[in-house]
Amino acid sequence: MRSASAAAATLDVAAIRADFPILATTARGAPLVYLDSAATSQKPQCVIDALTSYYTTSNANVHRSVHYLAERATMAFEEARARVAAFVNAPAAENVVWVRGTTEAVNLVATSWGRRNLAAGDTVLLTEMEHHSNLVPWHMLAKSPDEGGLGIALDFVPLTDDGQLDMDVAAEKLAAGPRLFGFTAKSNVLGTENDVVRLCATAREHGVVTLVDGAQSVPHGAVDFAALGCDFLAFSAHKALGPMGAGALVVNADRYAEMDPYQGGGEMIMRVKLATSTYMDPPLRFEAGTPSAGDVIAFHTALDYLAGCDLAAVHEHETRLTRLALDLLAELGVRTFGPADAAQRAGIVSFDVPGVHPHDVSTLLDGRGIAVRAGHHCCQPLMRRLGVIATSRASFYLYNTEDEVRRFADGVRHVQEYFRRR
Ligand code: PLP
Repeated sequence: MRSASAAAATLDVAAIRADFPILATTARGAPLVYLDSAATSQKPQCVIDALTSYYTTSNANVHRSVHYLAERATMAFEEARARVAAFVNAPAAENVVWVRGTTEAVNLVATSWGRRNLAAGDTVLLTEMEHHSNLVPWHMLAKSPDEGGLGIALDFVPLTDDGQLDMDVAAEKLAAGPRLFGFTAKSNVLGTENDVVRLCATAREHGVVTLVDGAQSVPHGAVDFAALGCDFLAFSAHKALGPMGAGALVVNADRYAEMDPYQGGGEMIMRVKLATSTYMDPPLRFEAGTPSAGDVIAFHTALDYLAGCDLAAVHEHETRLTRLALDLLAELGVRTFGPADAAQRAGIVSFDVPGVHPHDVSTLLDGRGIAVRAGHHCCQPLMRRLGVIATSRASFYLYNTEDEVRRFADGVRHVQEYFRRR
């Protein structure tokens, strides 16, 4: 297996594509055009091999036994933690808590930090563009204490009509002193790339703890935890060429002291008596039970691959594909959502073909081997803000080509013609 770096430095897309076996397959009898990477990315052969290799040469439970395999697995597991820390420029491996993905990371913050530090009268500030995974855990805390919540208030930064956060209102709302501001670095519907550094700086001025949802940003560009200045950064392996079942919550070490364990069980404890227990230091304190070690280890391989791909070139490539898609859709009279400038929304294009339900759009494209997503994208409040019940969404990654974008636009033209005839 050729190493990623050979394929990447200048973003040689043909060489990159050769590393992803699924991209050479067909769907419905046509060459697959995979435009759904915002839902999950495809995996290079090296990641598939890493999973196989783990189960054929190293499989053992981690942090438990002292035999050869257990030592191999534990070492690889902890090396992966250090790799994640280095990938996002976190201070140390100890700042990385393994989770199943972004959703679990946000739930961990809401439970471990939220339940310890929030009370009725406190506000958590979110935005109108959040994924359900950064809404529902806070809804649970907003319930009244007799319903299991804390009775906290929720507030939301609104959007401008071109799908950006209203930064003036964000500043006002941060000045009002919410306890925590949770927001996505990049919208999975609009593609909007938020000014995380500025938002975190304003939050810090007012003593507001910040949680950044990096699900759509970490896989697509250089994300620097230290430079962002946030308290928590959450992301998923599966959107970054890695396997499903692994993800990371990067934690500012000052926050660890303010957090209770998320779950109780094996490996997170120091000492257990029948009626009491004491806990390991973080990050293990937040990792009860057997982790998804093989997935974590293959995530390491995925990040090596990505790091070999010049992330600035990846971002530029995605911007180019996005610009082309926006131009071609505009020629067809198709409505798109989000910033007009492709540079502000690289990689994601949500659109509406007038008079055609997004599921029909997706089904007809699928008939030509083109995979896009249709639906509310786990963003029902955002759909309401946009005045639609659903959108179709094409999302691009380092392995997509201009030719695929043209096939996609051709497919959309076919959808329009099909419904015009009926
Ligand atoms: N946040 C954003 C912006 C997302 O796009 C997604 C997934 O689509 C998530 C959170 C949830 O990620 P996961 O399902 O991997 O936990």
